[in-house]
Amino acid sequence: MSLFQLYPVRLVSDEDVFLEGGGIRGAGGIYLPINKQTLIRIDSLQPEWTEDGRIASIGKPRLIAHEVTHQIQHELIGKLPIWLLEGMAVYLLTDYFTASESAYSPRLRNFL
Ligand SMILES: [Zn+2]
Repeated sequence: MSLFQLYPVRLVSDEDVFLEGGGIRGAGGIYLPINKQTLIRIDSLQPEWTEDGRIASIGKPRLIAHEVTHQIQHELIGKLPIWLLEGMAVYLLTDYFTASESAYSPRLRNFL
């Protein structure tokens, strides 16, 4: 286990597919420890689409980072109280993410 590895994220088209995959109604994303998978609804990312149906940009990249933070927490730390897990995930996306967002976004665009 290394911090410098890829963490796969499965993007799903709508809430029905999200729920079938183990998501929670009303949530935009979730990390599922049982199958080590991060699941995110594409519409929750507020994407802008190209005319040929590709994602041109996303409005909420922090959602991906938040859920991948949970994946890293689970794999590196294991079980912690939910308030601590959520607090860490939110904290890591405030100042740090804002400062690095311009560097993060192009890499995310290349991935999508
Ligand atoms: Zn969370």
